[in-house]
Amino acid sequence: MHRELNVVPFVSVDHMLKLVLAIGVEPFLVQLAGYIEADFRRWEVFDKTARVAAHSTEGVIELMPTNDDKIYGFKYVNGHPKNTRDGRQTVTAFGVLADVATGYPLLLTEMTILTALRTAATSALAARYLAPPGARTMAVIGNGAQAEFQALAFKALLGVDRLRLYDIDRSASEKCVRNLVSYGFDTTVTGSVEEAVLDAQIVTTVTADKQCATILTDNLVGPGIHINGVGGDCPGKTELHIDILNRSDIFVEYTPQTRIEGEIQQLPPDHPVTELWRVITGAESGRRDAAAITLFDSVGFAVEDFAALRYVNDQIERTGLYEKLDLLADPDEPRDLFGMLLRAAG
Ligand code: NAD
Repeated sequence: MHRELNVVPFVSVDHMLKLVLAIGVEPFLVQLAGYIEADFRRWEVFDKTARVAAHSTEGVIELMPTNDDKIYGFKYVNGHPKNTRDGRQTVTAFGVLADVATGYPLLLTEMTILTALRTAATSALAARYLAPPGARTMAVIGNGAQAEFQALAFKALLGVDRLRLYDIDRSASEKCVRNLVSYGFDTTVTGSVEEAVLDAQIVTTVTADKQCATILTDNLVGPGIHINGVGGDCPGKTELHIDILNRSDIFVEYTPQTRIEGEIQQLPPDHPVTELWRVITGAESGRRDAAAITLFDSVGFAVEDFAALRYVNDQIERTGLYEKLDLLADPDEPRDLFGMLLRAAG
């Protein structure tokens, strides 16, 4: 299929759902993780900046741009933990890819579902380098919108098949159990964090609360655990007790952004951390030994969205799962923009 010059492919929520179902959730997560890994391997070619965030009392609205020498991408995303009380999502997003050579947009897509997929794929990718080998049991603390995606990514990429769920709202954990019933997990709903982390080799924290919370205390973290800290992703919003950070080997996406937004905002600015791309390229080691506590201090970085946008862009021609959006005013005579208006009136 040849793309028309002035028409921008648009992937709606409906088309994104169909695309994920057509590919299959787990194959989608594996392929997406492959794109993210490939872009992390060429990390140095990207223009990188900490995301531009507009904070308010209840939440944050962020723009996340990056580009290589051919393609530019950005995501618009929000984070409003109180939204769920009014029946709205905590996190919603959409994104754009554009051609660096012309500046013309190449793709506009929903990214609420895609963000959940890319966050989970990145977490599982990090865990492949950091979690204890053969880990099969994961505690998931916070069982909201992201939770099932996290579970499925860890199953698809690492073989995790035992879940121990905990949420302050038990109905969220029960929703997870229902949604995951046909995916082959052995799932236990627990009544406390203490109970959830029992026997877990991986602990995922993915709660939403705009404060410095202590979801996980130091006494609950034994040697050899991998912590996938996903919910602390903005200034004044953390999940882990500082004592855990001081015992952990900490891995981050893009250090300047994570110092502002991640768990490590609790630590002095010179506390050593390792960027994940360096582990993926082999420049640094991941897990040191069986007793090490590893922490992936995830906040979500633009290169992951760029990879996700690339992945979707590569799927839509084949599947036809997009609409054509009349987004660009582009008259035949480029300087006659006003004439275009007159011709429309005529
Ligand atoms: P959500 O509101 O749908 O779900 C959050 C869940 O956490 C809710 O079920 C809530 O009851 C539970 N919760 C709140 N406080 C808790 C506590 N103290 N103990 C146990 N459970 C608790 O939100 P979501 O879309 O699933 O997002 C979860 C978090 O992940 C948010 O903070 C969001 O900003 C973050 N997030 C991070 C990334 C990233 O790349 N790191 C990407 C997407 C979302």
